[in-house]
Amino acid sequence: MVRTTPPRPLDITALFPELREHSTTATRLHPRPGAPTVTDSSVGGPLLWPADEVWPVCDDAGAHEPWGLTTLAALHRRREILATAEAREPLPGGDFLTVEERAELDAADALDLDDLIEDPIPLVPVAQLYRRDIPDYAGPDGTDLLQVLWCPVDHSDRHYSPRVFLYWRDSSAVGPLLEAPPEPPVISDMYLPVPCVVHPEQVREYQYSDLFPDDLRERLDEWDDGQGDSRPHYQSDLSLAPGWKVGGYANWSLTDPYPMDCAGCGTTMTLILTVDSGDWNGMHCSWRPSEENPTASPDIVGVQIGRGYSLYAFRCPESFDHPPATAVQ
Ligand SMILES: [Zn+2]
Ligand SMILES: [Zn+2]
Repeated sequence: MVRTTPPRPLDITALFPELREHSTTATRLHPRPGAPTVTDSSVGGPLLWPADEVWPVCDDAGAHEPWGLTTLAALHRRREILATAEAREPLPGGDFLTVEERAELDAADALDLDDLIEDPIPLVPVAQLYRRDIPDYAGPDGTDLLQVLWCPVDHSDRHYSPRVFLYWRDSSAVGPLLEAPPEPPVISDMYLPVPCVVHPEQVREYQYSDLFPDDLRERLDEWDDGQGDSRPHYQSDLSLAPGWKVGGYANWSLTDPYPMDCAGCGTTMTLILTVDSGDWNGMHCSWRPSEENPTASPDIVGVQIGRGYSLYAFRCPESFDHPPATAVQ
């Protein structure tokens, strides 16, 4: 089923034509649980990875933080227990979990895994994006596949979020595939995406208002302040799409904007991928796809960035070989 962003409640460029100069496109991914294969674009799905290429690990043990650690087996089991509990009639007495289920989750919580973050940690697939599916795909000439992986524990040097790695390929040049990628012995319970197929949809975005020239920002703020609670607002309804997306702009509402300059050459970086804790912001969010039940949970991918924030991955526009950077907002 396609996913469709409802039309914006008003055309902001009719009121502020100069916004057209501060506009770009983004591809909302609309990830939904499924069974993607290596030939599909996906979130949390299997990667088209050559057998003769070593699976990457993060050996940055000094930056690893021991928060929310669990194992893949324990996390899969936890999700199974919670799904079973949600699908059944309430238990006698109104408890959500049985005594046995509660005991199993408590035992998993009690595992002491801290030592494991001292070793190199195999990376986890976050997204695999084929150029043919993603209107806002960006990558070196001759590539048609972007693979995003991360080290699935908090990094003290990455705003206490996962460290992101980007790989580009020409899928037609990939021969025999790696059959069973190594799995991390330890992960944070917030950083394992549920395998999802994607439903890419291109939308138009307008820049975060604090990044406008002063005059435009002031006039826009004045207009926004004059809007009642039930009217559309620039930041929440008219500028930036929530959820997982490729391209577009970052929403700097947590810290206010700060420069994202390439560590290799100093150039201002470009947003390439947004990982979001929810795919939209609650029942009354104007960005919720038309096809979704209004009461559906936007927590679809099973990834949480901090307290419901987003992780923004940036690339250098000068060279795809320069290192990516991330911001949490
Ligand atoms: Zn790491
Ligand atoms: Zn650079």
